[in-house]
Amino acid sequence: MVIWFDIDNTLYSASTKISHAMGERIHAYFVSLGLDEDEASELHHKYYKQYGLALRGLTRHHSIDPLDFDQKCDGTLPLEECIKPDLKLRKLFEDLDRTKVRVWALTNAYKNHANRVLKILNLQDQIEGLVYCDYEQPHFTCKPEPEYYHNAMRIANISDASKCLFIDDSKINVIAAKKLGWGRCAHFHETGLDVVEGGRQTTLDGDSAADVEGIAVVKDLEELRTMWPDIFIS
Ligand SMILES: [Mg+2]
Repeated sequence: MVIWFDIDNTLYSASTKISHAMGERIHAYFVSLGLDEDEASELHHKYYKQYGLALRGLTRHHSIDPLDFDQKCDGTLPLEECIKPDLKLRKLFEDLDRTKVRVWALTNAYKNHANRVLKILNLQDQIEGLVYCDYEQPHFTCKPEPEYYHNAMRIANISDASKCLFIDDSKINVIAAKKLGWGRCAHFHETGLDVVEGGRQTTLDGDSAADVEGIAVVKDLEELRTMWPDIFIS
């Protein structure tokens, strides 16, 4: 089995407000393309909704350099001020039974940002591998595109989708995995927090995947211990 963890807003709480900082930077990037404030907001939100990632729309419809985008947006986030190593989270990873499950990260970020977060969280040595969005490829794929999940399985060398376990704070990403037959999927869903999605402020209250057949909803990663006890050292 392989357990796949999303990184942003999953391994750390949305209460860190990193999504706000990210939203501001992405907005500025859209404005730098010559759009006015309203157009920038509109398009940012549209691409996020349509592609699951604003950058995916930017690379499809505008001639931008994704690595430049990454540097200006994710690369300038004050992560060290917002995220701290989390001893409880590290213990959760240490308690995963490695004779039963391999542990991977599956992110829509580029490797620089992903590795930076994993390093701050002191989890780098807990993860066997990282599947990231390869912004160096002009037509890179990302969650929730099926190809991205297939590619992830290839990289981790696992062919049986039913042996994939997945946890992500994005409902559409979790639903996409479930549709592909990933065995156990959990939607990490915090409530009562303000987040920025696609440049728009929203609260995380509604919209969990609780109504979707076969998807579990957790608001704390510690719940994985009781939900999937077979993958933890007892
Ligand atoms: Mg996420």
